Amino acid sequence: MIRFEHVSKLYDGKIQALEDVSFQVNQGEFVYIVGPSGAGKTTLLKLMDKQENLTTGSLQMGSMLVERIRPSQTYILRRQIGIVLQRDLFIPYLNVAENISYSLAALGVNDPQQQQIKTQKVLTAVGMTAYQKRLPAELSVGQRKKIAIARALINQPPILLADEPTANLDAKSAVEIMRLFFKFNLGGMTVMIATHDSTIVNSLRHRVLELQKGKIVRDEDNGKYSTNS
Ligand code: ADP
Ligand code: ADP
Repeated sequence: MIRFEHVSKLYDGKIQALEDVSFQVNQGEFVYIVGPSGAGKTTLLKLMDKQENLTTGSLQMGSMLVERIRPSQTYILRRQIGIVLQRDLFIPYLNVAENISYSLAALGVNDPQQQQIKTQKVLTAVGMTAYQKRLPAELSVGQRKKIAIARALINQPPILLADEPTANLDAKSAVEIMRLFFKFNLGGMTVMIATHDSTIVNSLRHRVLELQKGKIVRDEDNGKYSTNS
């Protein structure tokens, strides 16, 4: 369960990115976070895996209160969360499988056999096993996004967060990427997607949380991208 209670976030003590945000997401829900650029969508995602700290309020992720987590314990929170950021950073000279194994090593999984098993499992989950020997630069934008999603799944997290996962994709690739998220959601994963993609939100309907200037202005089941479209 994810619960924001009166959460505000100020950057540098003055830029109000989020203001008095409260909502709850139950395990297994699928939620779109919409709103114009600068509304606070990315900040909302970053608070959840403690890439940024909230300023006031309370944020519960599963059994953990995020604002109480000490830096040395952050890894416990992050094991519960897969996150796909807007920029997918890969190590350019490592192939796809090696990139995923590398992130496993960073999480303390050093046994090559375990790395191999886990890497193959997530590549299978996103349908990319055939591309595992390619370098990141040899893939299309959509294929790289799938690898970023595979990497986010590596811990089999109960929660998957993604920031604008269909940005810069053609319509067909965008739908393929969304199908992956729906598949994981059907498997019981909580999925939250920050997006500008009104076509996706309007055609593949789910709960919509709308942010405007850091505030929640709408929380609607089976919502559309915008109330005036
Ligand atoms: P969105 O993802 O909806 O575009 P963001 O969460 O990125 O919104 O940004 C919300 C507000 O916070 C914006 O005014 C943005 O300029 C500001 N902001 C975001 N990140 C930082 C940062 N690291 N330092 C200062 N201000 C930031
Ligand atoms: P299947 O073999 O049918 O894919 P799994 O038990 O491997 O079943 O996966 C259950 C669900 O979790 C599926 O929706 C699958 O896409 C997704 N999944 C598969 N591998 C992983 C992983 N390593 N981490 C997170 N989710 C995964």
